[in-house]
Amino acid sequence: MFEIEFNEPFYSVCTCCGSNTTSLTRFVKRDGNAYAVYYAFFTEGHSGLTGLVSIGEWGIEEIPKDRYAFGFDMMVTGESYRAMIINAENTPWGKADILGQKLTREEAMLHPWLKDVYEIIDLMADQDDEVRGFFGQEIVH
Ligand SMILES: [Zn+2]
Repeated sequence: MFEIEFNEPFYSVCTCCGSNTTSLTRFVKRDGNAYAVYYAFFTEGHSGLTGLVSIGEWGIEEIPKDRYAFGFDMMVTGESYRAMIINAENTPWGKADILGQKLTREEAMLHPWLKDVYEIIDLMADQDDEVRGFFGQEIVH
């Protein structure tokens, strides 16, 4: 069972339109142990959210070789959302070594942990108020 650890979002301003941009870093526990981290980046008025889920022994200091990063895009469609796995390098966190090996879309789709990634994305959409607020917004452009 997964559990999100919430903390303060980081806010900035979109370089294209000047709207408020939100960056989230959330630790995810599985059965009480550090298991994953997800990142989400979205801008008021934009239709899409970009995220990354990094899974693999998040409790220890060094970077284990079995830590993997899965990138995703989410589109707002009314009350629901659509998530699509993308190349992890094509996200705002593509250069961060600590997140583990950046999987391409093809690698991610074959990875045994993909079901956990989808479960974490679902949990984020269900429980993360910042993300829920974004999905509930009116799209301007
Ligand atoms: Zn913008």
